[in-house]
Amino acid sequence: MSRSAIVIGAGLCGLVVAHELAAAGIAVVVLDKGRSPGGRLATRREGEARWDHGAQFLTARDPRFCSMVDGWLAEGVVAEWCRGFGGTSDGHPRLRGVPGMSAIGRRLARGLDVRTGTRVGSVATVDGPVPPGSEPIGSVAARPGERRWRVELDGVAGSEPAPGTGDAQGSARALEADAVVLTSPVPQSLALLDAGRVVLDEPDRAALERVSYDPCIAVLAELERTSALPPPGALEPGTGPIGWIADNLAKRVSPVPTATIHATARWSAERFERDRDESARELLRAAEPLLRSPVRGFRVHGWRYARPAVLHDGPVRIARGLPPLALAGDAFVAPRVEGAALSGLAAAAALLETLSSGRPS
Ligand SMILES: Cc1cc2nc3c(=O)[nH]c(=O)nc-3n(C[C@H](O)[C@H](O)[C@H](O)COP(=O)(O)OP(=O)(O)OC[C@H]3O[C@@H](n4cnc5c(N)ncnc54)[C@H](O)[C@@H]3O)c2cc1C
Repeated sequence: MSRSAIVIGAGLCGLVVAHELAAAGIAVVVLDKGRSPGGRLATRREGEARWDHGAQFLTARDPRFCSMVDGWLAEGVVAEWCRGFGGTSDGHPRLRGVPGMSAIGRRLARGLDVRTGTRVGSVATVDGPVPPGSEPIGSVAARPGERRWRVELDGVAGSEPAPGTGDAQGSARALEADAVVLTSPVPQSLALLDAGRVVLDEPDRAALERVSYDPCIAVLAELERTSALPPPGALEPGTGPIGWIADNLAKRVSPVPTATIHATARWSAERFERDRDESARELLRAAEPLLRSPVRGFRVHGWRYARPAVLHDGPVRIARGLPPLALAGDAFVAPRVEGAALSGLAAAAALLETLSSGRPS
């Protein structure tokens, strides 16, 4: 049985995978380029102002995700926000992070070796002894004859380790482990494998290349006063460029009035490569009748891979003909928070089975 894994991405999927593998006795390290864990479960903070600028709420239907969410509810990591928007209720709870959506990632990262601010540049298979500057995860160094994974960190490949630091955490140029789980959006995962010259089996590659995502341009506005959005402080307008608009004060994310505005997928795709400030001003103009508050300032964020549009067929992909490699994420189940968690569970289960069956590399 192999004993170590590197999980790329500390979004919900990666964190769920890491918990499951760690619980099964696998040594796990999670790497993420972001400043904090959570991925698209993101809360931006500037001074007193706060914005949930990625996922706005979560819903739970599958019993496995419901039991995860029940634990978060009991701990106060999430709370019920509402049961519908625009004055309607469908009776189904929408949950928010407390105080913001990033609380979920922070909670799940606890007790795990999660290294944020760590951008992966390539993922490759190697054999032979672990070279200086590479950090072996778990017992991988004890079995140098087997093929395994090397994950090179971006910007440090080829550079010398800091004097006297050897391959200690924080200074390593690469990490090595028996298994890798890629939970970054699929096009980014494929690019990491290409950079490491990993040749995927043709059906694996074709299935992964079919996955696609819609982008989203998000405007984070600081308001002069509370918006005019009706309770619970959010709307899906349904016409025009705005797909979603929320008041973070009414949602109790921010102690001062702020609004998050998400453009529709189509509008975002048309303008994604254009001047962002111009797009933001256009969205703010469209939002005026809903906010009815002067805007003190704004930031704009582009989510290139906001929501999967074409999903992978199946909750995880275990690559054939390679050391244990799983690809997972919301695009493997459903374009929402719950989908990411369920894919994480499926990836961990499939990987544990692969590891214990000793499937050849
Ligand atoms: C604008 C927006 C609104 C949304 N609204 C909702 C909603 O209201 N309800 C809902 O249920 N869902 C919503 N979603 C979808 C939800 O956020 C996602 O389904 C879910 O968070 C995806 O989790 P994940 O772990 O699969 O991916 P991610 O959270 O994207 O995690 C992938 C991680 O990989 C990391 N990564 C990528 N490349 C590298 C690299 N080279 N090196 C290191 N790390 C890397 C990234 O930094 C990221 O943290 C929304 C998403 C967006 C963007």
